[in-house]
Amino acid sequence: MSAPAALPPLREVIARHGLGARKSLGQHFLLDLNLTGRIARAAPDLSRGTVIEVGPGPGGLTRALLAEGATNLVVVEKDRRCLEALAELAVAYPGRLEVVEGDALKMDLAALGPAPRQIVSNLPYNISTALLVRWLTALADDPAAFSALTLMFQKEVAARLVAMPRSGPYGRLSVLTQWLCAARPLFDIPPRAFTPPPKVVSSVVALTPLAEPLAPASLAALEKVTAAAFGQRRKMLRQSLKSLGGDTARLFEATGIAPTARAEELAVEEFCALARLIGPGSLSFAGA
Ligand code: SAM
Repeated sequence: MSAPAALPPLREVIARHGLGARKSLGQHFLLDLNLTGRIARAAPDLSRGTVIEVGPGPGGLTRALLAEGATNLVVVEKDRRCLEALAELAVAYPGRLEVVEGDALKMDLAALGPAPRQIVSNLPYNISTALLVRWLTALADDPAAFSALTLMFQKEVAARLVAMPRSGPYGRLSVLTQWLCAARPLFDIPPRAFTPPPKVVSSVVALTPLAEPLAPASLAALEKVTAAAFGQRRKMLRQSLKSLGGDTARLFEATGIAPTARAEELAVEEFCALARLIGPGSLSFAGA
């Protein structure tokens, strides 16, 4: 499926609608058709279910998603200035593009269309982790909320999502992400590809939600235990987990985790084991 011949170049769209990039909205536009096409092709089958793009801006990636076969694409944009340009795109692809004005941080994206639903986005960096945590929270409630997430982050954040234990970037975000998703780094995009160029390199990451979480745990308990452990990541767990209150010695006995281990040495499943012990209704911890 190719783009309708009538579409004007993106630079012209930006000029005509006065879409000068706003820093407060994390706006760095990707105008290179090869790169937007590459991101769209990295997403699983776009012709199935609902494809959701957060922050379409002037519509570069949106065009690529449509050209690569999205038949039910819903885009969520906070910047009203972009809406007219996006409406023109909706006219060029009749019945395939719905434009929603709004703040993705306040929206339930799973309500935007029928499953399977996937998200593809060049995320605004200033809120990228907040958005991801929101979508992970939805996945913790319902693993079928999203079938795939193909997302661009700043490279440092992408590294945290895919990090393995005993590596520098491994932290809370790695544990929460990998508890719910298989996370795979795809490719980097240099600053010069964007208008205006950001100060950092960007990376596209594929997150594939697991049919069920890697190990049983409640999200609240997992957040609590990872916050305590990584809050003092250089300290041994017997020290860092004290902030949880309760009988920490019991946590180590019950899980077989060494009290002298540090947060970055624990696998996701071990954090889940700790979370199960401190979780709601856990007599072993609450009773201590
Ligand atoms: N998709 C476009 C591209 O690749 O060129 C623009 C990407 S730009 C990095 C991020 C986009 O997210 C901007 O269009 C910005 O207005 C939008 N945005 C920022 N905060 C948002 C929010 N809370 N909800 C929805 N969109 C938001």
